[in-house]
Amino acid sequence: MFTKILIANRGEIACRVIQTAKKLGIRTVAVYSEADKNARHVAMADEAIYLGPAPAKDSYLKPELIIKAAQETGAQAVHPGYGFLSENAGFAKALAETDIEFIGPPEGAIIAMGSKSAAKEIMDEAGVPLVKGYHGENQEPDFLKSQADDIGYPVIIKATAGGGGKGMRIVWKAEEFESNLASCKRESAASFGDDKVLVEKYITKPRHVEIQVFADKHGNAVHLFERDCSVQRRHQKVIEEAPAPGMSEENRQKMGEVAIRAAKAIGYVGAGTVEFLYDEDGSFYFMEMNTRLQVEHPVTEKITGQDLVEWQLKVASGQELPAKQEDLSINGHSFEVRIYAEDPRQDFLPATGSLLHLSTPEESEHVRIDTGVLQGDTVSVHYDPMIAKLIVWDHDRNAALARLRGALAQYQVVGLTTNVEFLSALANNQAFEDCDLDTNFIERYRDELI
Ligand code: ADP
Repeated sequence: MFTKILIANRGEIACRVIQTAKKLGIRTVAVYSEADKNARHVAMADEAIYLGPAPAKDSYLKPELIIKAAQETGAQAVHPGYGFLSENAGFAKALAETDIEFIGPPEGAIIAMGSKSAAKEIMDEAGVPLVKGYHGENQEPDFLKSQADDIGYPVIIKATAGGGGKGMRIVWKAEEFESNLASCKRESAASFGDDKVLVEKYITKPRHVEIQVFADKHGNAVHLFERDCSVQRRHQKVIEEAPAPGMSEENRQKMGEVAIRAAKAIGYVGAGTVEFLYDEDGSFYFMEMNTRLQVEHPVTEKITGQDLVEWQLKVASGQELPAKQEDLSINGHSFEVRIYAEDPRQDFLPATGSLLHLSTPEESEHVRIDTGVLQGDTVSVHYDPMIAKLIVWDHDRNAALARLRGALAQYQVVGLTTNVEFLSALANNQAFEDCDLDTNFIERYRDELI
C-alpha cells in the first residue's frame, strides 16, 4: 500500500479521499488555488502545495503543476477525485511516464469511453444493449437527417464529446431536425471544441439507472449493484438512491453482468460507472461509462457497507479486489441529495456568497454529510457551487425517506440562496414517495416543487 498520496482536487471529494487515506494510515498532500488557501481540504491534509490563481484552468486543471507537486512531496500516487483531471487521458498518460501511480483506469480505457460514439461502438461489439441510433463518422446534415427519419421521432442529438448535460437536443418532428442539429453542433464546438454528434431514439419516460463496477489489475471484476438517478434537472442529478425502487432481482443480475462485460471489454481497472437508460418495460440500454468515482458513490457505500475510496487505493496499489461478487449484498436503502448554492426559482442559477451560518443534522449511521466547506467559508464563482451531499440510510425506502425529510429540515444555511427548500419539497412529494420516477420527474411536478 502507498504511504503517501496527493489529491488533485478540492471541496468535498478531496476531504472524502483524505478521510479514507487517514483511516488507512496514508499521508496526504492537498493542492490548492489562491481561492482555497483556507479551504477545509487544505486544513485536513498533512501537507499542501499551492498551485496558482483561482480559475481552475490556472490551477486544478494544470497537469504539469500537479505532477511537479507530487514529485516534490514524494507522493507515490495521485487521486484525481471527479471532474477536473479525473477523465483526462493525457494526465493519466503523463503520470504513467513517471513512477507515480494514477488512482484510476489506464489511459486507454479513458480514451475508449471519452467519446460517446466510440464507446457505443465498443459496447455494441461486446454485446451490450444500445438504444437504436447512429454513432458513426458521417456528419453530413442530410445523412444524419435520413438516419433520424429511419430511427423514428423523437430522437436526441448528442455531442459525442459532451458531458454534464450539455450539447443535447431533443427533436420531436422531422421538420425540426435541421435547426436542432445546427444549434447542437454550435454548442458542442463552443463547449467541447468538437462538433461531432450522434443521433439516437429518444426514450420518452426513461429512468437513469447506473451500475457501480470495480476491476483490479489481476483480471477480477465485480459490480456493486445499481443507483437510480432519475430525478434530474437539465440532465443533472438531484437525488440519487440505491437500490433502484422496483428493480427485479433478475434485471439487477442482468444489468450487473452486462456492466462487468462492458468494463472487461476495455481492460478496465478501478472504480467505474456504467450508465443505462431503463425503460418502463424493464429493457435497458447502455448510455455511457464514467471512468472515475462518481459524486453519488456514498449511496452504494451505505447499502453495501464498503468504502469505495479504500477499494480504489487498494486496487491502484496492486492488491486484489477487497471482495468477491458472492460476498457483496444489499442492506437497506440510501438516498443522497446534492445541496447547492443555487436558486431553483431562477432556473437553478448558481449563487455565490458567504455561509454566514450553517447548522446541520447530527451524523450517525443514518445520516452522513460529505462537505468541503465550513461555516464562514465562501462559495465563489470559480468552482461548482455544491455545498454538501446529504446521505441517509435506513432499513427500507420509506424509513430512509423519513430520515431524509428529517435531515433536510435540520439543514439550515444563512447567507446564501440554496436549494434546500426545493430538496425538501422533493423529499415530501407524494409522487416521489410513490416512485413515479423517470428523468422528467421535476418538469412534471414543477408546480408542486418550486
Ligand atoms: P452527460 O454525459 O451530459 O451526462 P448522458 O449521455 O449521460 O450525458 O445523458 C444525460 C441524461 O440525458 C440522461 O441521464 C438522460 O436523462 C438523458 N438522455 C440521454 N440520452 C437519452 C435518450 N436516448 N433518451 C432519453 N433520455 C436520454
